[in-house]
Amino acid sequence: WSSEDFPWSKSVRSILKSTFRMDDFRSKQLEAINATLSGRDVILIMSTGGGKSLTYQLPALVGKGITVVISPLVSLMEDQIISLNRFGIEAKLLNAASTKDEVKHVHQSMTSQSPSFRLLYVTPEKISKSKRFMAQLEKCYKSVNLNRIAIDEVHCASQWGNDFRPDYKILGILKRQFPKSPIIGLTATSTDKVTEDTKKMLNIPFALVFKTALDRRNLFYQVREKPNTNDDVIKDIVQLINSNFKNQPGIIYCFSRKNCAEVASSLNKRGIKSSEYHAQLTPDDKTKVHHMWSDNNIQVICATIAFGMGIDKPNVRFVIHHSMSKSVENYYQESGRAGRDGSPALCLLYFGFTDVFKQSTMVMTERTGLDNLNQMIKYCLDVKSCRRNLISTYFGEAWSSISCHEMCDTCSGMHKYKNCDVTSACQSLISTIRLAESKGDGNRLTGSKVVEAAAGRGKNKSLDLKSFTASEIQRILLHMLHMEYIR
Ligand code: ADP
Ligand code: ZN
Repeated sequence: WSSEDFPWSKSVRSILKSTFRMDDFRSKQLEAINATLSGRDVILIMSTGGGKSLTYQLPALVGKGITVVISPLVSLMEDQIISLNRFGIEAKLLNAASTKDEVKHVHQSMTSQSPSFRLLYVTPEKISKSKRFMAQLEKCYKSVNLNRIAIDEVHCASQWGNDFRPDYKILGILKRQFPKSPIIGLTATSTDKVTEDTKKMLNIPFALVFKTALDRRNLFYQVREKPNTNDDVIKDIVQLINSNFKNQPGIIYCFSRKNCAEVASSLNKRGIKSSEYHAQLTPDDKTKVHHMWSDNNIQVICATIAFGMGIDKPNVRFVIHHSMSKSVENYYQESGRAGRDGSPALCLLYFGFTDVFKQSTMVMTERTGLDNLNQMIKYCLDVKSCRRNLISTYFGEAWSSISCHEMCDTCSGMHKYKNCDVTSACQSLISTIRLAESKGDGNRLTGSKVVEAAAGRGKNKSLDLKSFTASEIQRILLHMLHMEYIR
């Protein structure tokens, strides 16, 4: 698919240079463009900032007709339209805020011999909820004006991922109604399972899948045992920022809105300008925080995972996880907001015993949720494997640890550990749990209670566990959870 002998190859090259003013294609861009221009359905998996938009924006300029782009975020679509206009490309957006006149104009153009725009951006709701729009799209298709359909964040169609959206599931009707218009789906994150499911949901079983390597070489991955008190965690973070990242932008992901507020205020007290960001902020406040951060008036954003899609600040130097993500996929995405500019950046995760149980309560209702969390626990517990290896295995890729270039804590020899036999310690933990269950207390057991009860106090200190520190016992318990000896 990377050939330049297609009938459109010359014109594709010249549009790249003259209209987009780019010198060459990046990895997989030409492949995706050729495939979609051949009429094939395509799924393109490429890390954020890799250049997915070009793969449907450029084909939109080859030949007549229009390209419909389905994207979940209006603000992102607006940004795209501005940058397209800058290149001299006409693009329109239809959403709830469009005026009657605009809608009328767009609808007319959709069936006209020479439409006044090349790309039409709509939200998935437009497809799932507006009969009027679908009727118009049908007419557009019948007048051979519907060149192709691009679907951004296409993984949202799969229930296997974490971002499932019901409106995306309905996009399956597109292929049924418009079989001759190729679909090109784009995403930054996809496991094989999610990709297969996405194809199924969208009725594009023969779609070609192009995938760029997910490895982000400039990111240093590190996991640190979380200190026991909030104060100590903050001290650790402040020291890290002051000694390595003075005045450099970063993100701290926190578990809850309350955590965000606490961390932000503690940092501010210590002279590091920060702001909280979570779903409960008003849209105005969100925009304000986002802008202040973009303009470097705030150094650190303390955010829940609500802070994500649409961030494209290139020079984020660190992403700290105050508590663990709910899956490796989420972690990869969240931490991946560091170092978009290609310069070195740090991805540090604080791994705390009680955080594991907080997360598991959140995801407990779904089996996939627990599986995903278990993988995340493995990522945190493993002190022998390269972090890059752990991530790539999760995504079904194999990156060799040689290619890590000591850009993770394991490969750069930061772990200190000793080998020892923990059999009797495990047995002791299991009898503690059994005992609690036999008393009918099983449901009220927490991780901390097990550790406390098993270790005993003073004279009752359990012999089997005596030689271990509390944090070592916690680690043993987590290993047992991860191995599914206990649930
Ligand atoms: P994605 O959607 O994958 O996150 P974008 O499509 O927004 O990424 O592209 C990210 C940036 O890379 C944009 O500024 C875009 O102009 C630039 N870009 C894309 N392709 C190329 C290319 N072939 N050469 C140079 N710059 C490119
Ligand atoms: Zn490594």
